[in-house]
Amino acid sequence: MPSAAETITLPGAMPGTQRQLRVFSFGDPGARPKAYFQAGLHADEPTGMMILRELCKLLAEAEDKGEIKGEIVVVPLANPIGVDQALNSAVMGRFELRTGANFNRAWPDLVRGLADSVRKRLGKDIEENVDLVRREIRRRITALQPENPTVAQRIALTRRAYDADLIVDLHCDDEALSYMIAPDELWGEAKRFAADVGVHSLQPNGETNGARCFDECFFGPWQALHKEFGERVPLACQAFTFEMGGVLDVDPKQAGRYAQGFFRYLRRIGCVDGAAPKQRSNGLNEFRSLEMLDSPAGGLLLYRQQLGEWVSPGDVLAEIVDPTAPDLDTAPAVIKASMKGCVVSRRLSRQVAFGDFVVMLAGHERPASGKSKSLLD
Ligand SMILES: [Zn+2]
Repeated sequence: MPSAAETITLPGAMPGTQRQLRVFSFGDPGARPKAYFQAGLHADEPTGMMILRELCKLLAEAEDKGEIKGEIVVVPLANPIGVDQALNSAVMGRFELRTGANFNRAWPDLVRGLADSVRKRLGKDIEENVDLVRREIRRRITALQPENPTVAQRIALTRRAYDADLIVDLHCDDEALSYMIAPDELWGEAKRFAADVGVHSLQPNGETNGARCFDECFFGPWQALHKEFGERVPLACQAFTFEMGGVLDVDPKQAGRYAQGFFRYLRRIGCVDGAAPKQRSNGLNEFRSLEMLDSPAGGLLLYRQQLGEWVSPGDVLAEIVDPTAPDLDTAPAVIKASMKGCVVSRRLSRQVAFGDFVVMLAGHERPASGKSKSLLD
């Protein structure tokens, strides 16, 4: 295993309840490009953790051969607070139980006031400008106060990630195909990345309305500065979220294949030495619109379409049976598609409550409004 495995002790909410983050590092600190990977920010999403375990093995092997040219930081389990929250044996990893906060929202605002603080110091040299902005972001991160254990955990991760050229946040769904989420500005690069990894599709992140997910926290500053100052400030941090299938997709073989995919991309960007392999044309789907459908009633959930199936408007996606309906001939409630799309995500449980999420469709056509529906993990 890697030579550099660091353990960061986080403050506990109460005496005797400290948590630990394990951070694996490969290559020389400060070498470029720097890539940062994490999984398990939503702690009940284990699929990405398995992939990063496999990726660490590949990186350790590459390090032994002297092939690591950049710096790679891997946090396979980014949320020790969440992973230890359980109720009746089920990990409650999406929201912090103490505060109700979603672990992937409200990351530090590194954008506000940033343009004004660098405006007068930006010059013609693009690399110097990037260094200047990174120093300014670091100054802001250094000033962050750990107001509670969750914020302390965020700050610890932020300090490892903020200056990376590439940030990858691995999540998974209930029951889903694998897909990558990218902002419009990074779409071209995301296509290359998605093809290397071998995910089923690429989807836009749409309007996030200031949710400040993990990826947005780090891409947002560069996005804002690039908009304001043009080519003088490039998009020097490319941050992406991946949904690596469903919670049942914890499989070492499949994880190994995806790890190989991430490793392939690290070679492509020069972080790992070796010829960038020829890009495979593996039929990556580029989706531009989404439809998320919730249940109109509580009951037993019967899916009529499998993952990966294409449907048209009006097609029945699922039926909800009320097992207590007095009339035994009562027709089930139905959920129908209102757009042409592919079934990319479903809930795992076949019991559903009124208003619960049931199925997500993704399609090729851009929505009429011109703005994609938000796809926040
Ligand atoms: Zn998630």
